[in-house]
Amino acid sequence: MKNIPNYHKYEWLRSEYNSGRTVKNIADEFGVSKGVISYWMKKANIIGRHKVGQIINNEKLCVDCKLNLSIDNFWKKKSSKNGYCQSCKNCISERRKNTSKIYRTKPHVIISAAKRAAKHRSTVSGRINNAMRASISRSLKNKKEGYSWENLVDYTSEELINHLENQFESWMNWSNWGRADAKQRKWQIDHIKSISSFIITSRTCDDFKECWALNNLRPLCAIENIRKGGG
Ligand SMILES: [Zn+2]
Repeated sequence: MKNIPNYHKYEWLRSEYNSGRTVKNIADEFGVSKGVISYWMKKANIIGRHKVGQIINNEKLCVDCKLNLSIDNFWKKKSSKNGYCQSCKNCISERRKNTSKIYRTKPHVIISAAKRAAKHRSTVSGRINNAMRASISRSLKNKKEGYSWENLVDYTSEELINHLENQFESWMNWSNWGRADAKQRKWQIDHIKSISSFIITSRTCDDFKECWALNNLRPLCAIENIRKGGG
């Protein structure tokens, strides 16, 4: 027989039973009959679990947490015999959290998210969106406050694309847009009046509006832009 001090026995029994073990399990471990354990349970005032599906005194057993819980802890379910789910609301929501966590780590989900991001980067409007989001956020010292960049200026990404394309020099196109490099002639989005000359205090201040106004933006050769001091 397992050696558990008497004063501790009932608490131990309660926690073992509530963690989902059966009376038989516990009896076997103690080397006593089920009747003895049932007697101890009665003494300790531990109410036995209902059988699966039973509703007694408005209480039902949750098959997951193994607790008898009042019936309002269970979602109704038409297809079930007793009209309720087998697991309690709490256990179901825990299980959902875990499955969605696991789902997000499945290889095909990771791949499709990466594909989506790559596709986004590969389109002109996707690249414009990324670039504008980042540099507007930087000019606001990351106080974009959750606004989409298009909501902070009075033009759309389409209009910006058209505005830039209309000013393209003959060598400029969307494949040579980017940082200056030695291999290829590149162009960048330049602020005619440079960002550093504005005092931007918030997304609503005049300097912000003027700095990011469409007529302050133009495509400029990347090398020239560096000579000019960037921005
Ligand atoms: Zn439960």
